[in-house]
Amino acid sequence: MSDLTAARFHNEIAAREYLQATRWPDGPICPHCGSVNKAYENKAKPGVYRCGEPECRMDFSITVGTLFERSHIPLHKWLLATHLIMSSKKGYSAHQLHRTLDVTYKTAWFMAHRIRAALTPMPGKEGPLGGQNKVVEADETYIGGKEKNKHANKRLHAGRGAIGKEPVLSLVERGGKVRSRHVSDVSAKTLRSAMVEQIDKASYLMTDEAPVYTKIGNEFVGHGTVNHSREEYVRAYFWHTNTAEGYFSILKRGIMGTFHHVSPQHLHRYLAEFDFRYNERSALGVEDTERAAKALKGIGGKRLLYRDSSPV
Ligand SMILES: [Zn+2]
Repeated sequence: MSDLTAARFHNEIAAREYLQATRWPDGPICPHCGSVNKAYENKAKPGVYRCGEPECRMDFSITVGTLFERSHIPLHKWLLATHLIMSSKKGYSAHQLHRTLDVTYKTAWFMAHRIRAALTPMPGKEGPLGGQNKVVEADETYIGGKEKNKHANKRLHAGRGAIGKEPVLSLVERGGKVRSRHVSDVSAKTLRSAMVEQIDKASYLMTDEAPVYTKIGNEFVGHGTVNHSREEYVRAYFWHTNTAEGYFSILKRGIMGTFHHVSPQHLHRYLAEFDFRYNERSALGVEDTERAAKALKGIGGKRLLYRDSSPV
């Protein structure tokens, strides 16, 4: 259940205390030296801490070093925006945020992108998908805007599928997580590098019959293929890529229904958003409030991404 009347969505102190409890379950963490639970709160300035490490002694608050730092947006609006995005299966557009949060459209747009940055996994932090006795489905789809807005010379080399749309490769472990990537093309070389990097080779790979997967398939313990054109996806319990296709349908309905148009340079951020919601889904026991709390844990340590977008 989502309780939008909760104090943290309307009150700054409640919002700060909630974020502190979420990001600092073991006591305040100094963003300057990394010490845990050694800082003291400034009694005159609640929420401001001074690090107790003799070598450090720096001041900080819960937002220092995070994607919410140096923002004039009240913290309770950040928490509400995060909650709305995390509890909306098809996403929550900047237009909706603009109206709900009473901020300008531009501010809403930057907030949504910062929150998406929080949802983006840290490189190398996650292990591979799959493993022994696990099935990983790989499939590609196309997310696309209007043909007339595209540079034709680039799009013509898109390979199979739609010209003028952006190829996305999704890897889904059955009963587990998904990882989606905006890829430059769907050549065997490009797909292979994304797949061997992210799938444990002890996995059983399941794809369609596209020739690009034939060679890659040999690198895994097993490789099953499905012929979409013969409607073979209904053939059997095991031989299918329905998990990946089900994921694509959520992704496409969300991107087309909620966001209408996503420009290629931002597509990876939307993929991170949809992947995150899927990976922290209720079928795996994660409900809206917990999903939002997990998102808030991702706001730290991402200052490079923070610099990518203008201050709000
Ligand atoms: Zn410190």
